[in-house]
Amino acid sequence: MTIPSHPITLITGGSRGLGAQMALSLARDGHDIVLTYREAAGAAQAVLAQIQALGRRALALPLDVADASGFPAFVEQLRGALARLSATHLNGLINNAGAGTHASFAETTPTQFDAMVAIHLKGPFFLTQALLPLLADEARVLNISSGLARFSIPGYAAYASMKGAVEVLSRYQAKELAARGIRVNTLAPGAIATDFGGGAVRDNAELNRFVASVTALGRAGEAEDIGGAAAALMRPGAGWITGQRVEASGGMFL
Ligand code: NDP
Repeated sequence: MTIPSHPITLITGGSRGLGAQMALSLARDGHDIVLTYREAAGAAQAVLAQIQALGRRALALPLDVADASGFPAFVEQLRGALARLSATHLNGLINNAGAGTHASFAETTPTQFDAMVAIHLKGPFFLTQALLPLLADEARVLNISSGLARFSIPGYAAYASMKGAVEVLSRYQAKELAARGIRVNTLAPGAIATDFGGGAVRDNAELNRFVASVTALGRAGEAEDIGGAAAALMRPGAGWITGQRVEASGGMFL
């Protein structure tokens, strides 16, 4: 493996929740970070400060992953950001950004469905495509799925369908990008206490107890659990893992 001692990793949705903890875990592993945010510029700046306190370099760029028409301009902004880090290429990409929708299958509207396609499938698909010239050979790509692509909880048909599609996409990317030594995997978190879904797993005590009751390790996940799992998959020693789905759920619904 030729991953440099300070690889540069781009994390979409790095301003809060799982993406922020991935950024901090990777920074502890020596990565410099470019993170994106959609609206929370202040939160993104706070994450940058934490990364810099760990001795690593970090920049933040705005990005709406639901708007693929903006990707060419984003790529140009990213080139400029990499130049500020004295680099030309990324060694890692984590497609993490996202928001959910909660509706039963019967009540899901085409508008809700289209939003899930745009954020969770079309976004990672075409953003990764647009970034191919900026991905170094032997780079790592990690696509964030969900435990909900393996088990089914009513209310997530549209969201979970996109995550299932991302898992298939990851295998195709792993196959087609292997010629350049690029590894592509999927990380599927279980239910994690973040702002996601209005903060339901964190703030709804009944839901939090339910998650704990169906989880082998007996609690809902914390964002740090996923930050650590993502960093582990990006380490040089994990370089023989590609095209795989790894679930980090504390053993939900085993
Ligand atoms: P949060 O709501 O805590 O954070 C979401 C992050 O994504 C923020 O940085 C937000 O930016 C960004 N974001 C949201 N929508 C967009 C968009 N359209 N374009 C660009 N950025 C966007 O969520 P989590 O950290 O919990 O979730 C992160 C990922 O993990 C998602 O893909 C989610 O589906 C997945 N996941 C989450 C689980 C959970 O239980 N939390 C379980 C399984 C998977 P900003 O701060 O600027 O708004």
